Amino acid sequence: MGRKNIFSSNQNRYFSGGGRGKKALVLLLLVLVLGTALGAVIFKFFGERNFTSKTPIVVTETPAETPEEPVVKPEDLVEDSNHIFAAAPYAYSTKTVREWITGQVPYTGEKLAFLTFDDGPSVANTGKLLDVLKAHNARATFFIIGTSIEKNANAGDTLNRILAEGSSLGLHSYSHVYDKLYPQKTGDPLVIQEEIQKTQDLIRSTTGKANFTSHVFRYPGGHMSWKGTAEVDALLAEDGIEHIDWNAMNGDSEPTVRRPKDAAATAAFVLDSLKYTKVKDVIVVLMHDAENKGLTLEALPAVIETLRNEGYTFGILK
Ligand SMILES: [Zn+2]
Repeated sequence: MGRKNIFSSNQNRYFSGGGRGKKALVLLLLVLVLGTALGAVIFKFFGERNFTSKTPIVVTETPAETPEEPVVKPEDLVEDSNHIFAAAPYAYSTKTVREWITGQVPYTGEKLAFLTFDDGPSVANTGKLLDVLKAHNARATFFIIGTSIEKNANAGDTLNRILAEGSSLGLHSYSHVYDKLYPQKTGDPLVIQEEIQKTQDLIRSTTGKANFTSHVFRYPGGHMSWKGTAEVDALLAEDGIEHIDWNAMNGDSEPTVRRPKDAAATAAFVLDSLKYTKVKDVIVVLMHDAENKGLTLEALPAVIETLRNEGYTFGILK
């Protein structure tokens, strides 16, 4: 008997000893393995972040309420514009349309017409023009004069209706007085700029739309009629304002001898006026919205249907 025997004896006790010892060992191993596994799982799911993260634990607060995206409604004004969201698909840049109708840039699209009414809003006709546009599913650009707003007690409602029904507003000076705007037939940049600003402000205050801005200007009498316009154009461009004339007309401001006398003649006049323009697939039609332009109103259904039969759809200027 020596150490070896003692060792053997120990060995025997642990490894080949009685059944109780063996069972206990297996149980111990089982508990160890299962315990380790369970511990790992618990650690993984509950403890990892707390125990292993070297960065400080960041407790993010749940926001009380996620701020909602602003909902765009079709009837809302497009920010800093002259038209509502519903009208945006057929609203065209004034500069682009000007370049098309003057032939500076070739137009290759479908036939496109811009109906324009100068000098309103009028007490007698604007509402009725809107009735016709609505009934015929057409739209237009109304070039507004500041003093016409001041003469019209319902101007705010009328201008809001123009916008709400998918048409747009252009600017046509405050006074429309040629001698003020064009002394010696030469455009006065500062006077024109000031009159545009004044009219812009009048539209904002009467409609209650502080975010309204029209970038569209039509020179009273037409850009083509005056000297010094390059300087005026440059100043207006700094304010993001673009001018536009026309390349078609219904003849309602022609001298009496040439002026059409009824609705059919007015519609025919529009088509006939196209012989003076090289660009015929995109047209800007000059008409007037003034107290004494009853025939323009009366002829509007015929003008719209005539152009539609020729294949034109209707856009607005922005
Ligand atoms: Zn005018």
